[in-house]
Amino acid sequence: MTRFIFVTGGVVSSLGKGITTAAIAVMLEKRGLKVSIQKLDPYINVDPGTMSPFEHGEVYVTEDGYEADLDLGHYERFSQAPIGRHSNATTGSIYSAVIKRERKGGYLGQTVQVIPHITDEIQKAIVRGAPKGTDIAIIEIGGTAGDIESLPFLEAIRQFGLKLPKNQVMYVHLTLLPFLNASGEMKTKPTQQSVGKLREIGIQPDVLVCRCERPMTEGMRSKISMFCNVRPQFVIQEQDVATTIYEVPLDLVEEGLDRALVQHFELPNDTPIDMSDWEDLRERWANPKGEVEIAVVGKYIELHDAYKSIYEALLHGGAAHQYKVRFRKIAAEDCADGNIEELLGGVSGLLVPGGFGERGLKGKICALRWARENQVPAFGICFGMQAMVLEYARHVAGLQDADTSEVDADCAEPVIHLLESQTDVTDKGGTMRLGAYACRLIEGTKAAEIYGRDLIFERHRHRWEYNNAYRDRLEKAGLVSAGIHEKGNLVEVVEVPEHPFYLGVQYHPEFKSKPLAPHPLFTAFIGAALVYQATPAHAEEVAQIENR
Ligand code: GLN
Repeated sequence: MTRFIFVTGGVVSSLGKGITTAAIAVMLEKRGLKVSIQKLDPYINVDPGTMSPFEHGEVYVTEDGYEADLDLGHYERFSQAPIGRHSNATTGSIYSAVIKRERKGGYLGQTVQVIPHITDEIQKAIVRGAPKGTDIAIIEIGGTAGDIESLPFLEAIRQFGLKLPKNQVMYVHLTLLPFLNASGEMKTKPTQQSVGKLREIGIQPDVLVCRCERPMTEGMRSKISMFCNVRPQFVIQEQDVATTIYEVPLDLVEEGLDRALVQHFELPNDTPIDMSDWEDLRERWANPKGEVEIAVVGKYIELHDAYKSIYEALLHGGAAHQYKVRFRKIAAEDCADGNIEELLGGVSGLLVPGGFGERGLKGKICALRWARENQVPAFGICFGMQAMVLEYARHVAGLQDADTSEVDADCAEPVIHLLESQTDVTDKGGTMRLGAYACRLIEGTKAAEIYGRDLIFERHRHRWEYNNAYRDRLEKAGLVSAGIHEKGNLVEVVEVPEHPFYLGVQYHPEFKSKPLAPHPLFTAFIGAALVYQATPAHAEEVAQIENR
């Protein structure tokens, strides 16, 4: 018997529904329950793979090669839930399934309509989202109550709940209690109205999670309870966190959300859940031994969400050493030989993330060269690794014209070239080399030492790759191929042994880092940055900046 929790949001977007959803999963898993998590997105894209990171944040990649909403990243970082392509459905994927069936004659004689055909398809996706053996399936509905485009989803979850006993389904609604400076008080009206919207559709929330900057008073709780028809102990405050989003599960347990879940689902409740690992994490994050500054040189620097998993993984790596990581976010196009010292001077490490297209490539190469020549730890991921290979080819191996055919299809030295499997690909959605592939790490390399094993599985999202025709020349010049995907003979990891940390990976290790299990590459990178931070070279740089 699987139970279902539907999480909706009201008042405004960006309330942290994904994190609240993930936090619910944490507390249920602490009760020994098997949890699944799914996101239903009201947009028409079949998946988020074709959306700009500027608008929608990063495209997260699952183990099974699905290009997903970044909320799936939160789910994986917080919980043990199995996340894959079944964990997401969009208006686009639902409609395309229905239309495909209609063309095949699957609805012969019928008029195909939003209700019941689209809503039925949504319900099938919900069932698919909860693999066999799931005790509790949590389903987050994207968008805000009252949006036109989320209506079919809300109707579908209403119908879904109707078919189950009351104690097998729960509706959680996340709202905002805005604080008005002028009157010095928090307001409950937007919450009342947003719950009103849900009730119009026929959904009575069982739990309200109220986001607020300041504590909610008991008076407000009873007011919300009365106007929204939700028992007071089911009105839960979620106040802004002090240090890290990883406090949210602890805060929500303390605010009584765990008790509410137990009561509603009539779960066995002999002992309070043991949150000591999260408490320990909060303790370490709140009391760092110091700070370390890392430059992130990328194309989508203005939007934090565009590199969400990268920043999170860096923070995890820092926390592993009990250090707080500060980011110096630099737009790659701003980097040039003349100003690189000014832009990067004083940082203890450089990370160049993934990306696409020409814009910023020059600046990334310039930043990487600066890091290599100055012994500053540098970490290249995907396009960042490709830029690292180009940097080395141009400045060390004597291949001045080294380029990627992504940027110049007819370049003289295509050191990075299109994957063979990509040559006939014309469709853009879901057609890159995606998901987890095996990589054999070469004995004696830094990468093998960091991972402590020789066979790894990491996630990919790319079309171009290191061109094996240049491998011999680059290796002779000192760029070690440290990891190989043997089946396709692809170089997945490169490193420079004489450098404290100059390492690039074709895959995306950031998708596998968790606060309770930081990724070894990020831990090692921050470790190298801390060593660099303690050197006279770093002190000298800092002194130079102060004299400027
Ligand atoms: N644009 C590069 C490629 O497709 C790198 C992709 C990425 O960084 N995710 O190979």
